[in-house]
Amino acid sequence: MNKKNVPALTELERSLHRHLVDGGNLGGIGPALGMSQRKGNLLYTDMCDLLGSPRNPAALVAICYATEAVQPPDLLDPSDIALPQEERDLLLLFAIGLGAGEMAARLDRKQWKVNEQAKEVLDNLQARTRAQAVHVAWQYGIVTGRAIREWLETGEAGGIGTTAQLSGLGPVLYIQTREGEVADTPQSLCAARGPAEAMALLSYWDQAADDRDKRGALWARASEVLSRSGRPVGRPVQGVHPARQPDTMRRQRCRVCFGHARLEIPRKPGYLYLVTDNERRPHGVYRTSEPPVCIHHALLCADTEPRLQSGHTALLVTSSTESGVLGTRYVPLGDSANVAAVSNSQGFHPYADRERMRWVLASQLVRDLTAYKIIDLRRLIRATFPTPPAPTSRAPGP
Ligand SMILES: [Zn+2]
Repeated sequence: MNKKNVPALTELERSLHRHLVDGGNLGGIGPALGMSQRKGNLLYTDMCDLLGSPRNPAALVAICYATEAVQPPDLLDPSDIALPQEERDLLLLFAIGLGAGEMAARLDRKQWKVNEQAKEVLDNLQARTRAQAVHVAWQYGIVTGRAIREWLETGEAGGIGTTAQLSGLGPVLYIQTREGEVADTPQSLCAARGPAEAMALLSYWDQAADDRDKRGALWARASEVLSRSGRPVGRPVQGVHPARQPDTMRRQRCRVCFGHARLEIPRKPGYLYLVTDNERRPHGVYRTSEPPVCIHHALLCADTEPRLQSGHTALLVTSSTESGVLGTRYVPLGDSANVAAVSNSQGFHPYADRERMRWVLASQLVRDLTAYKIIDLRRLIRATFPTPPAPTSRAPGP
């Protein structure tokens, strides 16, 4: 459906939408809107027809947001909600108005199982109805305008992202780039000489003091889409953010929630890292650009992060060093101030190589994990939480 073709809603229709997102049911429309139930029912069916929605309150709520017939709600931090993938799948199917039988067929699950999961997802989102659950899921980016518009445009639910597309994506990470966050273009870079520099080096035309870290590396710039409380919001997209990743890595905070990742284990406190064999270097050192994880998100990452699914090791790291950056190397073009990237790929550049670092645009901070103990993650979690936390429990804030 084209947004321009969406008719403006009347005040009563908006009230009906508000009634549904507040967890009201169809039987209560009349009293809620101060009219007879018969008139309320008529208002509802007319509104469904107007917006091309199936006669289903959850679908109506989703379509109102997707077409912006009603202003969609503000987005919330997705890392505040931990839902198993099988429950997330249901939310998208709620939003296209499917019943339990259709959901079971589509997901290839038993119908009793779907009914059970549908109840659980309402409990977990503290929603009274599926329509209210869709509203909450919208805020956490689980049901998106893109998915709903795709369904409306293709006219069939096959286009909507369900298990096949959604599973394997892993948890939403604090360090991940979000939709709408834009990197500076290479044209913002130049070769320049600072007041204290004998030789030219890579700079921004409008260089600011915080563009370089303490060791002189120049960092990529990108805008941020943050909530009012300063948390990243919006749909996660490919790549990590060049400000949040180094901040998280430098302070060794949790990659998912930016909370503390230091475990205060008696006699052996340390930071919890999940590493792969690819990150192993000679002499047992692990070199990684993947920040640590807090105890609350450790299992979630271990079980669902794609990079860890073909094997990983849990380390309690007692000593590590910021060894360098992942970044792109540039060269000056002749005598001009213009520069060009040597290649599009990101390489590791050690801080120790100062000559090379002069021409690098850094985008991720890298740590060498030099002293650690290999641990059994599940045993550690059992010891930390005598009753294991439910996988759906809300994560604590940082
Ligand atoms: Zn965390």
